[in-house]
Parts: sequence; C-alpha cells; structure tokens
Amino acid sequence: MALSVRGLTVRYPAIIAVSDVDIEISDGEVLALLGPSGCGKSTLLRAVAGLERPDAGTVCWDGADLAAIPVHRRGFGLVFQDGQLFPHRDVAGNVAFGLRMRGVDKSTRDARVGELLALLGLDGYQHRRITELSGGEQQRVALARALAPRPRLLLLDEPLSALDRALREQLAMDLAHALRVSGTTALVVTHDHDEAFTLADRVALMRAGRITQSGRPEEVWRAPADEPTARFLGCTSFLPATVAAGVATCALGAVELPRAPDGPVRLGLRPTALRVDGSGPLDGEVLARVHRRDHVRLVVRLDTAMDAVAGIADAPEVGARVRLRLDPDGLAVLS
Ligand code: ADP
Ligand code: MG
Repeated sequence: MALSVRGLTVRYPAIIAVSDVDIEISDGEVLALLGPSGCGKSTLLRAVAGLERPDAGTVCWDGADLAAIPVHRRGFGLVFQDGQLFPHRDVAGNVAFGLRMRGVDKSTRDARVGELLALLGLDGYQHRRITELSGGEQQRVALARALAPRPRLLLLDEPLSALDRALREQLAMDLAHALRVSGTTALVVTHDHDEAFTLADRVALMRAGRITQSGRPEEVWRAPADEPTARFLGCTSFLPATVAAGVATCALGAVELPRAPDGPVRLGLRPTALRVDGSGPLDGEVLARVHRRDHVRLVVRLDTAMDAVAGIADAPEVGARVRLRLDPDGLAVLS
C-alpha cells in the first residue's frame, strides 16, 4: 500500500471529528472520501497531510510512519476548494513554484509547466495574470501547480465545490483524465456524489467521523451498507423484497436484479426507480411535481406517497392518474 492509515482518531474539545479510521490507497489509485458536511473529511485529510496531529493511530507511506515528518517533507500535494494561488505571479510562476523551491532548472521548469497547462486545457496561458482568470481557470492552475512537482500523493479537499455546475462537471472529467494520465495517487474529499463517482477508482463513505463503507463506485451505488448510507446516496424510500434467481419481488411488483443475493433483502428506491410509463403495471395519482434539469420529479400516491420521475415532454399534471413501472437502475439493494 502506498498510503496506509490505521486507527486514526482526531478529537476537538467538543467532538471526535475522526474516529478510528482505516484507509488504504494503492499506488496510482484515486480514493474519494464522500460524506455530508461536518462528517470529518477535511480533518482526516489534514491529518494525512500533517496539518493536524492525530490523537491516536498512524499514517504510513510505503510502510514508514510519517508521525515525525513535517508537512513540507511528506512529498504530498494539496489542493483546496479555493485554489489559493499567488496573485502577484503569472500562471507559469504559480505552476512552477514547487519546482523552483526544489531547485529545478529553468528549462526543465518551463517544459514541465507547458506539459501541465496542456494537460489541464490551459495551453498558452503561461503569461496570463491570475486576476484575469475565471474561477474554473484558476482552479485548473491550482491543480497544475499541485501536480507539477509530481507529488507522491495528491490531497484534494472539495477541489471543485466552488465552481458552478457546468464547469464542475467538465473540470471533474478533465481532472479524472489528468490524474490517470499522470498516474497520480490521490485522496479527494467531497460531499458531492458526482464529483466522487467521476474521479474515484474507489469510494469510501464517511459518516460522523467513521468510514461506513468502501468499494468501487458501482458497488457502493448499487449496494449501500445501511439505510443512512443509502439515504445519503439518494434513496428516498425502502421496501422489503425477496430475491430468487435474480428477480426481486416487492409490494410494487417484480424487477430483475441479476446481482442481488437470493433471499430476503431491503430495497432502497431512488426517485428514478419509479418511472411514468403508459404501459406500466402500477397505477398512481400525482400529488406534486417539480421540474429538474432533465426530467420532472413527481410525488405519486401508490399505497403510500413515493417519489417518481417523468420525462419533461409528457409529464403529468398534479391530480392526474398515471401508470408507472419500476426501473432497476434506480434501485439499491441493502446488504
Ligand atoms: P467536513 O470536512 O466533513 O465538512 P470537518 O473535518 O471540517 O468536516 O469537521 C468535522 C467536525 O469537526 C465538525 O463538527 C467541525 O465543526 C469540527 N471541527 C473542524 N475543525 C475544527 C477545529 N479546528 N476545532 C474544533 N472543531 C473543529
Ligand atoms: Mg471539509
């Protein structure tokens, strides 16, 4: 393991912010630590960086304990929500900063700066002033600056959260690409599902100072460890079901779930688990509707009130009766 965190605990006077946490990241892997605001993500990241002293536990790199190694000698790169660039230096001056501190010569620096600006979609930006860049461009510069010295671990704290949605989605994909191309080992902490699932090879879910589950994004999405985790991952209602030969049967009917284990399970339903479909087997009444970006969100009454979705073109009005079907893509199976 490149990074190995064991039993890490950080206490503040009023709260245990990080409680007995174990995480491992292998060489070249990107781990996303995902959890609601206040669950301890930043504290954990700061403890890994060496900015926070743990009350218990160890942070090791390639098996060597880092307790006595100060922040600047850990060889880790840091990126925060607000890139914290040097406003008086131009783009190249910012990106080259870590290289100059290491005594890298000018021609090597210039080449590396050009390489990183190209990787982050900022070709030719070398002499632009920081104050003349958009928020998204500034964050790209911050990422280039952190990657330039080839950190053995890149620590990213909500790196895209300050950007508006369209920019965030684009930059998340660009950052995922940059991390893969550079083979960078990274720990990214975020409260944003999309960000975590776009960037990560593996996702660790955190709640109230503890890691509750970790796995590949699709595993965590499909099989949350418990109900609070499922709620955090978008499930809004839950139903008992019985699975036999890859078909789950619940109060709303049968649905194919080829990966679900046989026997009794609990299904978590995201709003997309119930779709308006003229030929669907279920019958409901629309209680409420609200437009979202690319669909209409409904509350429908079946036996109880449940969330559902409809297409924008044919979304029913409040009070209408609708046919619905279960969509397995919107279901999670709780283990
Ligand atoms: P997250 O990054 O997941 O939003 P944080 O790690 O920032 O969470 O905070 C976790 C908990 O620790 C919160 O309850 C927060 O108020 C508390 N906390 C964070 N930093 C400090 C600090 N320096 N002193 C006291 N309490 C803190
Ligand atoms: Mg935070």
